[in-house]
Amino acid sequence: MRNISSNFPVDKFKGIQTPFYYYNTDLLKATLSAINTEVSKYDNYHVHYAVKANTNPTILGIIKDAGLGADCVSGGEIEAALKAGFAPEKIVFAGVGKSDWEITLALEAGISCFNVESIPELENINEIAKGMNKIASIALRINPNVDAHTHSYITTGLSENKFGIDISLVDKVLDKLSELKNVKLNGLHFHFGSQITDMDSFRSLAIRVNEIQELFYRRMIIVESINVGGGLGIDYQNPDKNAIPTFHEYFETFRKHLALRPIQQLHFELGRSVVCQCGSLISKVLYVKEGIDKKFVILDAGMTELIRPALYQAYHKIENITADSSKKDIYDVVGPICESSDCFGKAIELPETKRGDIFAIRSAGAYGEIMASQYNCRRLPKSYFSDTI
Ligand SMILES: *Cc1c(COP(=O)(O)O)cnc(C)c1O
Repeated sequence: MRNISSNFPVDKFKGIQTPFYYYNTDLLKATLSAINTEVSKYDNYHVHYAVKANTNPTILGIIKDAGLGADCVSGGEIEAALKAGFAPEKIVFAGVGKSDWEITLALEAGISCFNVESIPELENINEIAKGMNKIASIALRINPNVDAHTHSYITTGLSENKFGIDISLVDKVLDKLSELKNVKLNGLHFHFGSQITDMDSFRSLAIRVNEIQELFYRRMIIVESINVGGGLGIDYQNPDKNAIPTFHEYFETFRKHLALRPIQQLHFELGRSVVCQCGSLISKVLYVKEGIDKKFVILDAGMTELIRPALYQAYHKIENITADSSKKDIYDVVGPICESSDCFGKAIELPETKRGDIFAIRSAGAYGEIMASQYNCRRLPKSYFSDTI
């Protein structure tokens, strides 16, 4: 039998109930080491992993061991990060709607910073911190109003988005801050979108951050840390050729264009670029169905395991990893869920496919397993790892 992707332990897959997530931990470690190589060139660059991209405990453990911090957007993520062993001083807490219990949990744990997105949130954190006799370290999330040139559902840095504080309100926020005694301004935070592959977009962000910093200098404020968020994209078309993202160019872009004061630290919050390429969704072909003018491959995985195609019209490379035919055919690859959007790809050229073949849906390590749902009373997918399978 011809195995088109030698990277997959296909024989082992045959004994496992599909669908499941498969993670190549060697690739994850190589990716983390590529990040660390770049970051070690600078003494004031720090990377926090955006936990929301993948919260699998094994994955979190490997990322923690590589020395990254954790960027969390909920109390549950803070709990997951603490459980994985991330030090509280390396955890930051972002998000447009933090509940009181989440703020309390974060203060109790002693996380390093709250990224604050509005005046009422600032007042609430101050109130809760006061009740606990603590001072909360905060960064203001400023909406940079820079277009990330990405899908409208994953752009966050335009004034029409719900995220961040508009720059026109900064004076008001600073006046408010001077009245509040239990919050301390420590940084400025920016995050303008996801799956950004054009370095010019990051350059635009860096230049905008410089302009915004000027406004703070004019009020005699130099914050300790600048956080430029995440968003570095990956190559969904060529997961093998470009298995590790272009970290060198990414960090270089900020080094070249972002003006830091000597005492300032620069923080990054990478999610997708850390974990995306190491994960695949493995699924079995239930049926090959002949339509009137097309053929459908019906998989046992669907939008309940990987929702990105249905939610963002996202592209994932689809491979038949057990095909034994050299003939090709064209298929729509769909899942079993009762929704028309439950489709992984239309008119995909694949080797001739039959019932029982195993498929790999590639680049599924980010926003895959963590977004799985139980719609249709489906079971949540299990996960397996290359070093322990
Ligand atoms: C989602 C998110 C990230 C990570 O984005 P990626 O595109 O996965 O790198 C970073 N920071 C914030 C505030 C986020 O919401």
